[in-house]
Amino acid sequence: MRIPRESVIYSMDRANAPVLWVEPGAVVTFETTDAFGGQVQESGQALAALDWSRVNPATGPLYVEGAEPGDTLRVDILSIEVAEQGVMAAIPGAGLFGDRVRDAEVKLVPLSGGRAMLCAGISVPLKPMIGVIGVAPAGESEGCGVPGRHGGNMDNARITANTTLYLPVFVPGALLALGDLHAVMGDGEVMVTGVECSGEVTVRVDVLKGMSIPNPRHEDAEFFYTIASDVDLDQAVRRAANDMLDLAMEKLGLSLNEAGMLLSALGSTEICQVVDPKMTARFAVPRWLVRV
Ligand code: CA
Ligand code: CA
Repeated sequence: MRIPRESVIYSMDRANAPVLWVEPGAVVTFETTDAFGGQVQESGQALAALDWSRVNPATGPLYVEGAEPGDTLRVDILSIEVAEQGVMAAIPGAGLFGDRVRDAEVKLVPLSGGRAMLCAGISVPLKPMIGVIGVAPAGESEGCGVPGRHGGNMDNARITANTTLYLPVFVPGALLALGDLHAVMGDGEVMVTGVECSGEVTVRVDVLKGMSIPNPRHEDAEFFYTIASDVDLDQAVRRAANDMLDLAMEKLGLSLNEAGMLLSALGSTEICQVVDPKMTARFAVPRWLVRV
C-alpha cells in the first residue's frame, strides 16, 4: 500500500481526512516531498520567491483501525529511500548563525553513490532520517513545522531505517503523517536545514492497546530513547529525562533515588534540534536496560 506524494498536509489536525485506512500490522509506503515542497530546482534560486505556504509538508494522514486515544502507535521504519539531490539553505535570522547570515541562499546537494557532496572536495555517507513524523494532536492543530507530544517536526537524526518510533494516540485512527526527509543532518540542525530531500519511507504500523505514553519514544539496535519538545530547551531536556526516570522506576521496580542514580551513570542527554518553534531533546539508555 502506498500514499502518493500529492497527499500532503501542512498541519497535524484531527480534522484532516485520512487518505488510506489500514489494519494494524500493515506495511505502507509514504512518498514524500522535501521541506521546500519541491520548489527549489537550482542553486542560487531566490528564496524570497518561494511560496512559503507550501513549506514543511507531510504525507498522509494514515488511519490505523483500532487506534484509540490512550493507545500507543508503534511505527517500525523499514526503509528510507532518498532522491538523487538534496537542498540546503542559509536564511537570515534563522538558526544559530542567523544573526550573521547576510545573504539568503539555497544550494543543491548531489546525492550519489551513497554519499552527499556537501562542498567541493567534501562528501559524507548518507544517513537518511525522517524530520517530520507524527499523529494528530488532541486539541488544536499543530503546523507540520512544530514538534510536540504528538511527534511532528522533531528533526531527530536517530529516526532512521531499522528503528522503531512509539507515538501517543490522541484521536481515533491516530492519523499518522510524515515527511521532511534529510539525507544527512547533524544533531541540532544548526543552520535550520538538514540535506533536505524527497523520497520514500516504508513503515509497518501497529497499535499497542491500552498502553499510554506521555511523549514519543524510540528505539534502535543499541539504545532506547524518550523524546520531548518545548519552547525552552532546558524544559525539553528535563521532560525527556523525567519520562525515562518514570519508565525506569516502573520497569525495574526501583526507588526514585535508585533509578535516578542509574540514569545518571548510564543515560545520555542528547539534543535533536535547537532551531524549530519548539526545541527537541532525547534521553538515551542502553536498550537492554528498559524498553516500552
Ligand atoms: Ca524539520
Ligand atoms: Ca528539514
